[in-house]
Parts: sequence; structure tokens; C-alpha cells
Amino acid sequence: MNTMPRLDAVDPQRASAEDYAALTQVLERYGRAYYVDDAPLVPDSEYDRLYHLLEDIERCHPEWVTPSSPTQRVGGTAAQAFTPVTHRVPLMSIGDIFSGEELEAFSARMLEQLGSEALEYCAEPKLDGLAVSIIYENGILTRAATRGDGKVGEDVTANVRTIKAVPLKLRGNFPQLLDVRGEVYMPRDGFAAWNERARASGGKVFVNPRNAAAGSLRQLNPQITAQRPLTFNAYYIGWAEGAELPGTQYDRLQYLKSLGIPVNPLVKVVKGLQGLQEYYAAMQQQRPTLNYDIDGVVLKVNSIRAQERLGFTAKVPRWAVAYKFPPEEMLTKLLAVDFQVGRTGAVTPVARLQPVYVGGATVSNATLHNEDEIRRLDIRIGDQVIVRRAGDVIPQIAGVAVDRRDGTEQPVVFPTVCPECGSAIERVAGEAAARCTGGLICPAQLRQSILHFVSRDAMDIEGFGDRIVEELVGARKIHSPADLYTLSKDDLAVLMLDPGTPERRARFVGAVTAAKLIRNIENSRQVPLNRFIYALGIREVGQAMALNLAQHYASLNDLMAAAPGELMQLPDVGECVAQHIADFFKEPHNREVIRRLLAKPEEDLFGAGIELISVAAEYASAEKPLEGSTYVLTGTLSSLKRHEAKALLQQLGAAVAGSVSKKTTAVVAGEAAGSKLAKAQELNIPILSEDDLLKLLAQYDLAPKT
Ligand code: NAD
Repeated sequence: MNTMPRLDAVDPQRASAEDYAALTQVLERYGRAYYVDDAPLVPDSEYDRLYHLLEDIERCHPEWVTPSSPTQRVGGTAAQAFTPVTHRVPLMSIGDIFSGEELEAFSARMLEQLGSEALEYCAEPKLDGLAVSIIYENGILTRAATRGDGKVGEDVTANVRTIKAVPLKLRGNFPQLLDVRGEVYMPRDGFAAWNERARASGGKVFVNPRNAAAGSLRQLNPQITAQRPLTFNAYYIGWAEGAELPGTQYDRLQYLKSLGIPVNPLVKVVKGLQGLQEYYAAMQQQRPTLNYDIDGVVLKVNSIRAQERLGFTAKVPRWAVAYKFPPEEMLTKLLAVDFQVGRTGAVTPVARLQPVYVGGATVSNATLHNEDEIRRLDIRIGDQVIVRRAGDVIPQIAGVAVDRRDGTEQPVVFPTVCPECGSAIERVAGEAAARCTGGLICPAQLRQSILHFVSRDAMDIEGFGDRIVEELVGARKIHSPADLYTLSKDDLAVLMLDPGTPERRARFVGAVTAAKLIRNIENSRQVPLNRFIYALGIREVGQAMALNLAQHYASLNDLMAAAPGELMQLPDVGECVAQHIADFFKEPHNREVIRRLLAKPEEDLFGAGIELISVAAEYASAEKPLEGSTYVLTGTLSSLKRHEAKALLQQLGAAVAGSVSKKTTAVVAGEAAGSKLAKAQELNIPILSEDDLLKLLAQYDLAPKT
């Protein structure tokens, strides 16, 4: 039964004993799923919300609290499949705070109780993985255990031994006995690669790196753990025998480092409230650039003596807090699923969501990728879904809160005909995408093809944004890219007629704009062959592939006549793309569009008169004087575009890389060059100005015409 809606509306002061019991049960269920099964049912933000509601109710009704309440216990219980381990000193949780006011309150509390000793804190990133205790006896790793319920954990020694970051043997001046506490976690790149492979092979896909780390460590077969990209950072000494330990948390971490145990490099000593605030802000800023998830910072009184004076509650130390970042995962409702048709006809389901603030932005749409993803998630309209937005990554639906269903949810039905043109939707065996078979008859595909055709790296016709293209296609003014070249000011004037509604007014094209658009179209008539090939929008033919083709074929006709077998002789051309190219040029409709694009207007009333500039001739004749060298382009160039400079350097045989390394031959620095320029200076790599580049190109007759 779904008890949640009622609990959502609970006012802590008016809560009944039944509400309290129901909330406790829900939290216990979520806790078990999270701690024991490594399969959370809801995002942390939702768990935290309910947990704090429970705390509020308990504050109003202290008589209801029992020792088994989730607020009184640490974590979950150890799973029975593992041998239980009783911790000599319990592993605690940490009290969490979410706001600047709560931080001020913490700092004030510390000052009140410790005086000047409260001024120094050890500030650490809060790694999002799972806690382990690792015991070293005479420098040798003898046992590792999870936190479990804090008192009794699970023996995961064999699994922890497979983590390369964990030393099996300590070096330096180690104590006779040592209990190191730290976090096992999965770096983001490892997590992404793991999930990609799992998706492709139908294996287990993890919701987030924390869940992946916990699921990977708590494997009965250590060989499975060994295959997972886990790592480890220590953050605390539980206890030690046979050594004098340093007197501060920070120095203890440095001591662990000296024994060969990894400690997070972002750990820092800070002073006072301001120091704490600055550290939090700095970590929040760094968060998207890190290769691991952190969900906040942990702030610890640095002096161990002061820590000992404050001691622990039943669950948490009094000398530390976890100051959490705003969540990257939130629960929200799936309102509908729309199906968008792309340039190549691929039909993409898009989730329409009740807007939710997550990861620093309000999210109301998220891609669902394809039909398989819908099936894998078993997502239904009306579901409460987990939306994940981390850094600048596009928002994802990470899962469904299945236990929130009340039976009114509706399955998502994948359409069999295109929502835009009514043509059949087909799914080719072995491909994830379903495609509309309508081609350019389909307004959606036509719109996207036109947008691609005019885009900067293709024909570079400025001024044709989504709205104008939608209007032109809707008004049946263009049926293919070739029609762009026969548009008159009058055609555009259709859009200039009474704009009517505010919606239409936003799409209004003024006379000046119309004239500019026509001029931009005219200016695009001379174009290098590679850009034209790219503009055609052949499947899997990106910019690099288009250049590759243009360098090998002197004319478009030669390319159009090439069979797949011949195309596959070219570097980097595989079977799939060769087939796409040949299929594209075989299609009569495409041939007709190309014919019209290239026909001279004086010979054909509907001819666009595009002139193709061959790149192959220069390429074939020139030896490659820059062969073996690597250039990096940075900053803004004024006389040519970055991709043009890149293509020209490549024509001369140079490689053009995205980042500076010792192997870089030279860096071309335009206006406002930033970190790459700095790196080049640091590594003493020659730096060329735009003028230097033009001179270099001019030596080979390749300087752009001005
Ligand atoms: P916690 O995970 O918030 O904080 C304590 C833990 O922080 C420690 O055990 C340790 O593993 C870790 N940690 C990371 N870096 C550290 C550092 N530098 N120093 C010390 N510790 C560090 O607390 P908790 O009690 O383990 O669990 C509460 C968390 O679990 C909440 O975030 C909650 O949302 C989540 N949770 C989620 C669900 C769910 O259903 N999604 C259920 C239960 C709990």
C-alpha cells in the first residue's frame, strides 16, 4: 500500500502515532534497500527529507522514540551472507547539515564548548562511497570490514585486498596494530565505462557511483570485486597500538600517507567559521571537475584532545559535521513521454517532468534514449522518477521509485507510426534506435536536415534558427535544403505578414532580417567539398569523415560513384559507414537534391548554383611538410575559423590535438587564450601568433583568402 502521500502532508506537531509508525517503517525499508541490498529505492534527497521529518516528529514526541528508531541507529545491519565482524571501536555516522545557518550554529557550539581550540578544523571532501575499517597487524593487512550497523560489520577482507589503492603491507614507521577507516569509492570514469558495458551486454546497470561501489565491494566472489574499478581514501584512525599518534586529525592523515595509505589531496586545515565557509564554497566549485562523487564536506575539529573532550552521541561524533551539497538526484513525477524525430529519423522518447530543481538547474525534460531504455527502467506515466543531474552532464532518469506507485500509472507506448508525418517507424535488428521511414517527407526530419545543412561547420548560413526553419517548413516553403537557394524575400515575407499572436510575434522576421538572410544564403554558394559532404547529413559522416572523403575524391561525382568496397579502402572507413554513404547516394531523392544544389540557376530555374572547392587536388599534390608534428589551437582567431585552421594544418600533414603535452610541436594562440597557453609556457613549447600561423600556411600557398 502506498502510505507516502499522507506522510508528505504531515505536520510534525500534529503527527499521530500511526503516522510516526508508518514513517519509521518506510525509512527502515529504504535503509535496508540502501545499506543491505545496495539498491536504493529513492534518492538520498528523498530519504533525507523523510528522515528529518522523523526527527522533527521525535522532537515533538520524545516519548515515542525507541532505540530501534532510524534516528538512533547507524546504517543498516550486516548481511548474513558475510561473516560478521565486531568492531573494537564502533564506526559512527556523521551529523549532517544543509545550510549556512546550520554551519554557523555548529561553529558557535564548538566555540562555546572549546574556546580557542575550536578555531582550527580539518576540512575534508565527503567522498560518496562506503565506509570500511581495515586492520593492519605488524604492517600487514589482516582484516577489512564494512560499517554494518556501526558495531557489527561484514568481513570483506578478500574483496578489499583486490583494491589496488589499498596497501597490503605498510611501509615506514607503522604501529603494531592499526585500524584505518576510510571510504571505498568508484571514480566517475570507471563508473561510466562500467555502465556503458553493462548496458551493451544487458548486465547490471548501477544508479550512481556510490551504489556501484557498495554493490561491487559487497560481492561474495572477490574475483568480481577485482574487476570493478574501486579505489580507496583513508580519513580516520579508529585505534592504534604501539605508536605515539600525532595530536591533530590533519597530522594523523599525513602520518597515514607516510605509511603508504592514500589520503585525499583536497584535505586542508582551515581556521574559524570563515575558513569553513570558504572551504565549502571551494569544494562546491571543484565538484564538477573531480573524477569522483562528493556529496559535501566533512568538517572536523582538528585537535584530537578537543575531540576527546566532546566525545560522541549514540550515533555521531560531536566534533564533526557533514555539510551536504544541494542534491544531484531528486524525485519528481513523470507527466508524459513525447517522441521527437531527429535528422536521420531516429525517434527519441523524451520525458516531460514536473519541474524539479536538481544539480543547480530546474529540469523539466530528460531524454529516455530509446525503447530499450524505457523497458529497462520499466518507466510509467505518473511514476515518481529519480532525476540525476551532475555537473554539466545532461539530466538523466536514473530510476523509478517503484514503491511509490498507486496503480494509476500508465505504461509508455512506443509509437508504430511517426508522430509528425504518419510514416511507419522501423527498428533495424541490432540497432537501438527506431526510425521514421518518412525521409524528407517528414517535417521533423526536414527541419533537422535544414538546421544541420545551415549549421556553422556545414554551409555556415547564419540566421536560420529553429523558429524560422519551423515556419518555413510549416508553410511548405522548403521541402529540401536546395529550396533554401530559391527562397525570395517574398517567401520570407510570408512570415512578415501580420504576426498575430504573441507566439507568432516571437517568430516575426523583419524586412532587414529577410534581406540579411538572403545575403547569407548567397554568400554560402562557394564551399569546400568537405563542408558540403558534411552538410548533406549522411549517417555517421561527421566533420572528420567528410574531410577524409573530400581529401580522397577530386569531385563529388567520384565519391557518389564509389561502391562500399572501394570506400572501405580509405583510412577510418568501416563497413557500416561505407554502406551508409553508398546508400545515401543511391537514393534517387538525395541525388535529385544534390543535382539541384549544384545546378546553375541559368540552366535550371530551381538550381542553387553551389560551387564546390576541391580539397583533394591540393592535398594530393602537396607532400606533407608538417608530417609528424602536432599543433594545438587555442583562443579566437580573427582571419579564419578554428576548424578551418585545423583542416589546413591537417592538409599539411600535421596532427591537431585538443590538449597540450610534451609532445606538442607548437601552440597557436589567438585572442583570449587561456589554460592551454599557460600550459605551453610551463612546458616551454613554442607559441605561434595568428600572424605566425598565416605565414606558415602562406609558405604552402594555403593562407585563407581575405
Ligand atoms: P553519511 O553517509 O551521510 O555520512 C557518514 C559517512 O560519510 C561515513 O560513514 C563515511 O563513509 C563517509 N565519509 C566520506 N568522507 C568522509 C570523511 N572525509 N570523513 C569521515 N567520513 C566520511 O551518513 P550515513 O549515516 O552513512 O548515511 C546517511 C546517508 O545515506 C544519507 O546521505 C542518506 O541520504 C543516505 N541514505 C539513503 C537512502 C536511500 O534510500 N537513498 C537510505 C539510507 C541512507
